[in-house]
This record gives sequence, structure tokens and C-alpha cells, in this order.
Amino acid sequence: MSTVNLTIDGKKVKVSEGTTVLEAAESLGIEIPTLCHHRDLVPFGACRLCVVEVDGAKSLVASCSYPVSNRMKVRTDTERVIRARRLAIDLLLSAHPADCLTCEKSGVCLLQKYAYEYGVEGSSFDGEKYDHVIDISNPFIEKDLNKCILCGKCVRICEEVQNISAIDFAQRGFNTTVSTFLNRPLTETACVFCGQCVAVCPVGALTERIRRFKGREWEFKKVPTICPYCGVGCQFDLNVKDTQIAKVTSHEGSVVNGINLCVKGRFGFDFIDKEDRLKVPLIKENGKFQEASWSKALDLVAKKLKGIKRKYGPDSIGLLSSAKCTNEENYLLQKFARAVVGTNNVDHCARLCHASTVAGLAKAFGSGAMTNSISEIRNAGCMFVIGSNTTETHPVIALEIKRAVNSGAKLIVADPRKIELSSIANIYLQHRPGTDVALLNSMMNVILRENLWDKKFVSKKCENFESFRKVIRGYRPEDTEKITGIKAGDLISAARAYAQCPKATIIFSMGLTQHTTGTDNVLSVANLAMLTGHVGKESCGVNPLRGQNNVQGACDMGALPNVLPGYQSVADETIRDKFSGRWKRKIPSSTGLTVVEMFNEARRGKVRAMFIMGENPMVSDPDITHVKESHEQLEFLVVQDIFLTETAELADVILPAVSFADKDGTFTNTERRIQRVRKAIEPVGKSKPDSEIVCLLSRKMGYGMNYSSPEEVMDEIASLTPIYGGVNYKRIDKNGLQWPCRSVDDPGTKYLHKGKFSRGKGLFTPVEFKPAAEMTDKTYPFILTTGRMYYHFHTRSMTKRSKGLSEMCPEGYVEINPRDAEKLKISEGEKVKVASRRGKIRIKAMITKRVPQGTIFIPFHFAEAAANLLTNPALDPVAKIPELKVAACRISK
Ligand code: SF4
Repeated sequence: MSTVNLTIDGKKVKVSEGTTVLEAAESLGIEIPTLCHHRDLVPFGACRLCVVEVDGAKSLVASCSYPVSNRMKVRTDTERVIRARRLAIDLLLSAHPADCLTCEKSGVCLLQKYAYEYGVEGSSFDGEKYDHVIDISNPFIEKDLNKCILCGKCVRICEEVQNISAIDFAQRGFNTTVSTFLNRPLTETACVFCGQCVAVCPVGALTERIRRFKGREWEFKKVPTICPYCGVGCQFDLNVKDTQIAKVTSHEGSVVNGINLCVKGRFGFDFIDKEDRLKVPLIKENGKFQEASWSKALDLVAKKLKGIKRKYGPDSIGLLSSAKCTNEENYLLQKFARAVVGTNNVDHCARLCHASTVAGLAKAFGSGAMTNSISEIRNAGCMFVIGSNTTETHPVIALEIKRAVNSGAKLIVADPRKIELSSIANIYLQHRPGTDVALLNSMMNVILRENLWDKKFVSKKCENFESFRKVIRGYRPEDTEKITGIKAGDLISAARAYAQCPKATIIFSMGLTQHTTGTDNVLSVANLAMLTGHVGKESCGVNPLRGQNNVQGACDMGALPNVLPGYQSVADETIRDKFSGRWKRKIPSSTGLTVVEMFNEARRGKVRAMFIMGENPMVSDPDITHVKESHEQLEFLVVQDIFLTETAELADVILPAVSFADKDGTFTNTERRIQRVRKAIEPVGKSKPDSEIVCLLSRKMGYGMNYSSPEEVMDEIASLTPIYGGVNYKRIDKNGLQWPCRSVDDPGTKYLHKGKFSRGKGLFTPVEFKPAAEMTDKTYPFILTTGRMYYHFHTRSMTKRSKGLSEMCPEGYVEINPRDAEKLKISEGEKVKVASRRGKIRIKAMITKRVPQGTIFIPFHFAEAAANLLTNPALDPVAKIPELKVAACRISK
């Protein structure tokens, strides 16, 4: 791009062609006032506050939308400019209420700021004032149109970034307002309450309704930290006054999410100080929990664990680490398991979401993580989204997908349900649940037969191609139609679109992984990417979207039964020696039990005690009846959590931990970015950070775990974990670092497998289609598929305690196709019974075409109508992930 030389206020500057005068001035540090401008939005030029004088131009120009040109001379501070800005402010104030003293935005309101700076003390115009009723018809956003200056930022961010257009300008002239269609409440529109409109509103027209208490901006300490919900890892600021969090605001400049957040991140923080937070240790006596001191509770836990270990051996104890806890806490818990208890029986809920990803991608590429970065999605030419309801599960990544679509990228969506992304897809493949391998193999069949594959890439960088090709020959799309339900023509179009685009990326999630063929499914997407050469390049790759905030980190930290931190195998003697040398304890060499295996073994009496940190298997795991029976078989159960979860209720001892807001540490997001989590408030009651509890317990059990801070734990992690080798708190302070980051001068890795695969050559694996473990029959004629929904998260232990989120979706539901509902005479909202071979639930019916005939969908969050009472615990033989996406069931009135 060519450059342009110009002068602003006598200062010379060189910028790229296409830069606006406003941007050029900013690069010189010259501040120009704006009300309607935001760097993420298309220039609007409406508020006229950014006017400047340009030599040769007849009138003043709006600098936000005026492009620079060579030898241009600009003045930003002439008398004429100042006069024009004053007039603009004067006019805006003419209709503005004079309640600056009590306005929530006082102190950060831009209109107030500029009125002060330009000496406009009130309006010189006399005229009508607005008389709008303040809108509080939804739980999240307060709308006071009397203060609206019609800058349009809210309208534009809703349209340009969120792609929703829930609001727009209505009426004309003085009566112009920002409104919904027919002025309906926001809850009756497509609004998803991301709160982006609140984030960009320069005045007090849109403010947060969910705030713990009022406060002036200058009274708040802003503590930047990471969202505790999904794996996107959005950064935001906790606004703290005295000892409490008032609200969440966007953290300008976050590399992961910019100012974008979803409803959970922005408004779902009020669980933090809920009155039912666990505040003291509890010991169950005669079936009832009694409060206890830390010393009594930990003495009991240590005594019991030591006794069980002595009697039945270390492998009679199982430990669940947590995808919600920090890297440091996960590191310490797996160290506790291996060095103190002496077992590799440590796992966590990654087993239930992406264990097949880790296994499949490690086999094919040598690394089981998202290959590319979130920010690369916007530059992709083609996106193949399979088994990911991205707008609901990873909302901020969905914005990147929509952004790419708006720039002309092709979108292919494969999902049994008509998810939101399918409505903007160029090609939508609505395949039958559990038929992913047939679908993917058929796409590759087309790519091979039409000669669309990347021969050079395959021959130079991959191996085992011929045996893979042999299998693919049997998957003509014309033949797989019967399996997948997808017309051959659609599949051929998808194969061509993906293969022919030079920058094509695959995005997937639990729709692909939670199957008995989960590892096969992942191997198939890896095959597809290798066949077309779409890996090891920018804006390409195979990108699993990780579910929980730190599920990536918990895996990285070795909270898995077969690997130590950094995916270093427990079977490798050299690796074990390295850890033994540092930890001064022998590391067990045999692979431990996975989550589901631990419960199976508990039922058989092999596992006698469990220590569960921050997990809630009584809602998250398949076949809950069986999970409950397993818990009840245990001699001793310890649960460490922030609330009395369904699992904690079964415990013998409960240890109260702290939330993300009460502690320091790091989370690693889905794009392998290790980011700082910062303590904003003091722990409630006598609760303690998980890391401190583990260390205290460890000392009680005779092993001295002593760390002065989580930072010291990270230094130990870095010294033992090559992929984290260059990570320290100083380096990750602002934007984090993406692993692999092997030394302190390594800038981290934006995308993996550049030049060559982590394992050397990419490995093609021939994969044959296998049907799901449980098929429909006369008794159970429906396929049940489960998943997440937008307003809740995981086992709902946090979101059900968030007022707004709960209000938006207070109970579970089953999606039923209208034709099925008609046949069964089920009406909207009616309670129905859903039963599988493992259990039955009563749940509200939601009649929708989102699901095809013969398939029903239930979000798994709700313990009161737990989908996992119905799901099939059958496991993928490699990754041991259960088949949460396919179970046969029946529905009745
Ligand atoms: Fe939090 Fe995920 Fe929403 Fe970002 S997209 S705010 S990380 S829940």
C-alpha cells in the first residue's frame, strides 16, 4: 500500500493511503473530539464534532470520514473549528436533560467532557425537551432516550459487529429515536444482550441494569481479568469499589475480543457474592453438614486419604481437576495426585468435551490444540463449521465468523440442528447425528475424484496417504446420501468450496467430538485439512473451540491420566525422572483412570475415595443415575467448590474455594493464549484459593508444597513444561502469550505446523464410518442430542445464580419438530416425558423447526430436567469420551 505525506497542525506525518484525517491526527497524538466515531465501526460523520480545516476545502470536513491525500494541510484548532464544535455541542445540549449531577455516566460522559473542554455551559437554544419513559423492560440494559444524542453507535455496533440489527433509528426530525421494530421490548427482539451498545454509548442513554451498586467512574478500580465462562477467553475489567465488584466493562485493546463480550461475560458476574457461596469448610455428620474449622476439615481429609491409600493402594483414590480453575491450581492438583497420593488417576471434564480432539489431532499432527488464532478467522476465504453452534457456545468467535462472511468469505455449516449460523451459510449440510465420518469421507472422495487436492503438500509433508485413499474410494456422495441424509449435490458443492479456497479453515466443537467415534471424527477433519493443504498456514487450520474458560490449560497442565504437564507421557522414563528429580517423589508409570472409568471403578469397589475440585459430574456426566450410585459407593468423597453443587451434596467433606474474581493466576484460552487472571476482591468468608487448599492438604499429608504466590507456581511450570518454557507473569501481563513458547525470547506461536507438522509428517489415518452406539427402534424412536444454550453455562452452578441470565431462561426444555409434536399431540410449553434406556425426565416442550423430524434436543445445563439422566455413557475406545450427542429415546405427553 502506498504512503501519503501530510501536515497536521504544522507537524509532518506519513501514513498509508486510505487513512482518515482523524487516524492520522491520532498517530501524532493530536486529540480530535468525537461522539459518533468508534474504531471498530464504519465512519459515520454525524456528530460534526471532529470537524477540521483542510487547505483548499470550502467548508470544514468531518475528520473521521475524510481520507488523507498527499501534501494535505490540516488545522484542528483554528477559531473556525472551535466555533463549529461549540455550536455542535450547544445544539446537542438544547434537547438534553440537565441532570448531569445525578446521571450514572457523569464523569465519563463524552458530551459532558466536551462541553467542559469547549466552555459550553448550557444551550443558547430554547426548544422542546424529550419526554421519554425510561425503559427497564429487560434485566440487563436501562434505556433513557432523553439522554440520547443519536450518534448511532449503538445501532451500528448491533448491525456491523453483532449482525443482529435489533435496534435502529425510528421516526423523523426531533422525534427520531433509537428503537426496536414497532418499539417492542428488547426481550421480544433478536437482541442477545451482549451489551455492546452500552459499551459504546458515549452518554448516559444506555447503561447497565446489572450493577451491584452505583458509583462514579473515578471511584472504581478497574481490574483487568479473564471471563470465567467459555474458552474464548475474553478480557474485561472488573469495576471494584471498596471491597465489592460493581460491574463489568469492556477492556479496550484486548487482543482476543476488543470491546466485544457476550451476555454471560458482561452481565453474568453477580454469582460472585451470592449469599449461598460456601464460606466455611463443612463435614457431614449423621447425614447433615456441620461447619468446621479448616484445620479439622483438612486433618480429616488427610487422615482418610492416607488411610485409604495405606489399605487399598494409591490407585484406589481418584482426583478430578477443574477446567474452571487456573493453570497453577490444575498444576498443583495433578502434582498432588502424582507426588503425594502416588496415582495417575487424575482427569477433568475435558474428557467429556475434547478428549477426542486431543487424541485425534495429536495423532495426526503431533499437537492436540487449535492450530490457528481467533483473529485469523476474519481473513479466511472459506469457513467450514461442523458440530459447533458457535453463536451460542462461543459468541465472540461467532462475531469473527460473521465478520468474514460480511467480507465475502464462504460459510459451510454442517449440523443436525438449524443453528443461527446455518441461516447465513452459503451451504448448509443438515446431516443425521453421528454420521460425520461418512460426510467428511464423501467430501474427500469428491476432492480426490475431481483432482482438487494439494498433491505437493501431501507428498512433501504427509505420510500414509495411499491407505487413506483406498478407504475414501468407498465413500461416493451418491452412496452416503442414505447414511447422512445429505443430497450429493450439496456435498459436492461444499467439497469444492472448501478445497478450492486458498484460505480455508475448519472450526468444530462438541458436535463432532462427543461420540463413540469422536476420535475418528477428528482424524477425518485432520485428513481433510491435510488433503487440501489447508494447515500450517495463516487463516487455515483445524480449530477445535474449547468449551470452558481453562479447559485448554487444565489439559496443558497434565490434569490427564496419561500425561504430565505439557503432554509429556507418564510412560516415558526420562520424563518421569525429570519430574521425580524436581518433585522428589517417584512418579507412577501406568496410565490412570479417566473420569467415566473412575465412576465405573467406584461402583466395582476399586476406587474408594475421590477428591473433586470444581467439577460437578452429577450434572455434567452421562447416565447420572449410574454416577450417583458410584458416588454413594465411595468410602470418602471430598468436594472443593464455590457453591453447594449437586455433587457437593453427596460429599463427606466440602472445602470452600474462591471464584475467579478472588484470586490470581492464569487461564489458557482456546487459541493457546495464556492470560492473567487478577484478584479483584477478598475471598468471601473463610474460603481459600484452590491452590492454597491443595498446598495445605499436601503439607498435612507429609509433602511440603510451599509457594509464596501463583507466580512462583508458574515459574515451576515453565521450568518443567517445554511448551510453556518462555512464560512468566511479566511477559503475559498485557496480552498473554500463545504456546508453544519455549524460551523467554520466543514470541509465542500464532499458528501451528508452519513449515512442518509438530510430529514431523502429518499422518493420514484411514477411517471407516461406524454408526452410533445406540440406534433408534420401536420403543425408542427418537434421537436425542444434547448441547449448550446461550444464557447458561455448563452445570449452571454460576449462571443460575445470575439474576438476568436466570430470568432469560429459567428452566430446561426439549426441542421437538412441529410434525413430531403434531403426531404426539404435544403443544408448545406443555410438560412432556422423555425417556431413554437409562432414565426419564419431565421437561417443557419447545416446538421448533430447528430440529429435524425424528431428532430432539435438550440443553444439558438443568439439573431439574437433566439431559444426562438420558444420555449414553458408551465410550470412544481411544479418547474415552462418552457419546453425549446420540441416544435413543421416546417422548410422551
Ligand atoms: Fe465470556 Fe465466552 Fe462470552 Fe467471551 S464469549 S464473554 S469468554 S462467555
